[in-house]
Amino acid sequence: MEFAAFAARCEEIEAASADTEITSLVAELLTAAEAELETVVRFLLGRVYPAHDSTKLDIGPKLCYEALARAAGQNVSVEDIEAHLAEEGDIGTVAEQLDLGGQQGLAAFGSGGETTLAVTSVETTLRELAETTGDGSQDTKVDMLFGLFNRAGDIEARYLSRLVLSEMRIGVGEGTIRDGTAMAFDVPVDAVERALQVSNDYGLVAESARTEGTAGVEEIQLEVGRPVQAMLAQTGTVADALDSWDEVAVEWKYDGARIQVHTDGTDVALYSRNMEDVTDALPEVVEFVTDTVDEPAILDGEVVAVDADGAPRPFQAVLRRFRRKHDIEMAREDVQVKLHAFDCLYAGGETLLDSSLRDRHARLVAVLADEEESKAKAETGQRTPPDGVSRLWLSADAKEIEQLEQEALAAGHEGLMLKDPNSTYTPGNRGQRWLKRKPDVETLDCVVTGAEWGEGRRANVLGTFELSVRDGEAYRSIGKVATGITDEELAELSDLLESHIKGESGTVVDIAPAIVFEVGYEEIQQSPTYESGYALRFPRFLGVRDDKSPADADTRTRVETLVSED
Ligand code: AMP
Repeated sequence: MEFAAFAARCEEIEAASADTEITSLVAELLTAAEAELETVVRFLLGRVYPAHDSTKLDIGPKLCYEALARAAGQNVSVEDIEAHLAEEGDIGTVAEQLDLGGQQGLAAFGSGGETTLAVTSVETTLRELAETTGDGSQDTKVDMLFGLFNRAGDIEARYLSRLVLSEMRIGVGEGTIRDGTAMAFDVPVDAVERALQVSNDYGLVAESARTEGTAGVEEIQLEVGRPVQAMLAQTGTVADALDSWDEVAVEWKYDGARIQVHTDGTDVALYSRNMEDVTDALPEVVEFVTDTVDEPAILDGEVVAVDADGAPRPFQAVLRRFRRKHDIEMAREDVQVKLHAFDCLYAGGETLLDSSLRDRHARLVAVLADEEESKAKAETGQRTPPDGVSRLWLSADAKEIEQLEQEALAAGHEGLMLKDPNSTYTPGNRGQRWLKRKPDVETLDCVVTGAEWGEGRRANVLGTFELSVRDGEAYRSIGKVATGITDEELAELSDLLESHIKGESGTVVDIAPAIVFEVGYEEIQQSPTYESGYALRFPRFLGVRDDKSPADADTRTRVETLVSED
């Protein structure tokens, strides 16, 4: 396909406004592309390499302007182009208006004698350009790009300049390519979507659709060495999780950097969240996986920087390791990292994306299990997962989840992830099936107006404290707090409150307003259960506000404001 034909179609697409029209035009272009389909698809998205490939074209604006200026002849300088760009705001428009070409002598540079541009020759030149390194490479790159611009007509220059700067601006996104592929080759959109998720390669999927139809698209699976987009989480509460699922898979939320581990059983590659190859930066993770995993597998997890005792360090430390390109051994002495794998996308030759989290976690444990370690554990009845595997607890109990959160925070982690144990793995999707627990943003200072004596060994300490907010002169209840309090604190609180007890009925005691608790909560709901007309969901004791008297406690009006802000 001539690059001019591609550019002409881009112009039509850019001029179209309705999504359906754009999709049809894209579909027509894909059908016409034939053998050059993969390249055309990537070009439409402003790419030369598929999304999973970390190779960068790495053409900076300056380099592009230099090549353009040279192709435009003696009278045009880089400064002219920059000035023109400042007016137009689009390099495509600037390039189109330049009188390119005809620079004889040098004109044949990189052209192999061709006078027109073909889609494939543009791709070949751009790939060669990306691979050019070393002394004088900048000049060589300008020469190569000049060779392309010098053969470009107006409209070609518009899209070529945008392509090399990776901004096509024709209104074609990944969704358009998905729909255009489905339309062009008569393949169900869902099948295209799924193949895109597992391959991250729009060109490959389109080419499979063209040559093998639906069957070919359905055959595309995860492949070791080809990273996929990570599944993402939304902010959510324990209440959201318990309302949505019978049981919650609870994991610690590690404060590090996302990592995808690929191994064929021998060699290991590591990819960052945006699919960059970070293998060389993290040799200890590579060594760990090489030593532990002896089958092809793709794992998802977090790498965390740790200190000499294995305690987590802030995530900036791990980022420093990610960025490090040289002196890695030195950096490794400075900041050590540890893998916490929490998912398994592929094992034993099987793509596991459609398996449940429960099953995937079991596969993860199996993949990272060390035989001797497992045997020793089985003998001693230990149930901790193998080294490198993040723990997963199943719980339907808010108090238990709260306890896990305290443990996570005490161990220096960020908090909790709450996941649907039956959920499948959806790459790139920020769905409702993984929730990062929202930290308490606001706290309330509530007056303790009642309590209950405990049971059993706690019979002589108060637990479950009734909380109230001020309403004029009165105090109106808003909830009860029983979590977040240690045994020691319970004893202290009992001492503190005992002298304020007004009356008792069974185990329930009435307490005169005197003591103020700071409480965290997940949300406030309207509720007839309490006098204030509101209820705190999952309130947690954060501490006694010794510095506050009941008159300084929060009011019902503040609660109303908090609810309306939500
Ligand atoms: P955020 O970056 O705040 O959107 O939180 C989501 C990120 O938390 C993920 O992309 C991971 O990098 C990280 N994370 C830490 N621990 C876990 C875990 N157990 N499960 C999933 N993601 C986790």
